Amino acid sequence: MKVNLDKIVSLSKRRGFVFQSSEIYGGLNGCWDYGPLGVELLNNIKREWWQTMTLREDIEGIDAAILMHAKVWEASGHVANFTDPMVDCKECKARFRADQLEDAMCGNPAYKGRSAIKCMEDGKFTEPRQFNLMFKTFVGPVEEDAAVVYLRPETAQGIFVNFLNVLNCSRQKIPFGIAQIGKAFRNEINTKNFLFRTREFEQMEMQYFVRPGEDMKWFEYWKEERMKWFIELGLKKEKLQFSPHPEDKLAHYARAAVDIEYEFPFGWGEIEGVHNRTDFDLTQHSNYSSKMLEYYDDETKEKYIPFIIETSAGASRSFMTFLIDAYHEEEVRGEKRVVLKFHPKLAPIKVGVFPLVNRDGMPEIARNIFEDLRKYFRSFYDDKGAIGRRYRRQDEVGTPYCITVDSQTLEDQTVTIRERDSMEQIRIHMDNIKVFLNERLNNQ
Ligand code: ATP
Repeated sequence: MKVNLDKIVSLSKRRGFVFQSSEIYGGLNGCWDYGPLGVELLNNIKREWWQTMTLREDIEGIDAAILMHAKVWEASGHVANFTDPMVDCKECKARFRADQLEDAMCGNPAYKGRSAIKCMEDGKFTEPRQFNLMFKTFVGPVEEDAAVVYLRPETAQGIFVNFLNVLNCSRQKIPFGIAQIGKAFRNEINTKNFLFRTREFEQMEMQYFVRPGEDMKWFEYWKEERMKWFIELGLKKEKLQFSPHPEDKLAHYARAAVDIEYEFPFGWGEIEGVHNRTDFDLTQHSNYSSKMLEYYDDETKEKYIPFIIETSAGASRSFMTFLIDAYHEEEVRGEKRVVLKFHPKLAPIKVGVFPLVNRDGMPEIARNIFEDLRKYFRSFYDDKGAIGRRYRRQDEVGTPYCITVDSQTLEDQTVTIRERDSMEQIRIHMDNIKVFLNERLNNQ
């Protein structure tokens, strides 16, 4: 089934996954807000990633500040090189990324639907110039060069500059990694495709420090681990691929790089990059800060600057990927059913609880079950409308299980539990609900 992105955007708004930022003021391009269900999904994705990384013995977590010393971005190369080529249309004043014209449309309403390539061929564009993607601001009340800081365009630098701090306090030995989740900001020339390219987004990055010479082994290892993570959380295998960067397209610091790509409705796009960054980052920061960011191996008595294997995923881009991949439309008894087939670990609501009808003591029993369950699982109580419609409402937001209290409950204390994907219903005793859900939700 080909998923239509407009349907995802509209479902996201209607059911409270994602809203346009500052919508009542007409919105702010490239920024989005997560609603009540969206923030649950996002947190679940981040929690799964965090646990996958930091439950390991060889990975520590940090949470660095978004604002960093301006020198960080000189050392990293971002001040000089974190640029995209930009062209302006002399006629309609729209701006485009010169290297992505094939995906862009002319900004002039009079030529609606015309490719930007055509405008370029007609000579409407200026010469490309380099545009730095970092947002600049000032610390303190004085707007002068000495006070310039940038909103970080990636979380990685906060890890590199804390290499020695973490090494010393954790007493890790190489190989080991540092993981971080946090906001990043890029003043993208063109934002598009919903959450795919935004100006404010969240990253989940892990930098793994290794002995030079062992770098390619670890690069291969992390590439496979990261692909496995997406598949285990339910993404369809056939919609995922590795896309290695050809040698002539590698960033100046990289020895090898591969993107994990997903087949979005608009084509294949990167969701995570795995990079062999060599000793570039620690060498640069050693030179710029005059603090040697080295490792001393007390077995071999050698000192060296470690190589770094980076895994860099977008939390927001992963969010959109899990949402799109989960989206299904099915025909059930002549009616369309929209269902988000989230992995139970990611589902924003884990269980719905309904009384079949609002009488004969059913609401009281259902309410008691709900009050008990919500201490352990994110639960939703619904007594409005026909039971079929209540199921559909939960299907549409991906709730894996729905529990219904009916007239038989009054006789033998059993309830029905309906599974989202198969729509199969079984009866179990009320006392066994928690054990049942625990098994199904946490052990898959
Ligand atoms: P692209 O080529 O798409 O601009 P990139 O190669 O610059 O991306 P990285 O710097 O490797 O991306 O960033 C790592 C991850 O951060 C990406 O795989 C993506 O998931 C996420 N990411 C990067 N830029 C954005 C953005 N503007 N909006 C949302 N997520 C982003």
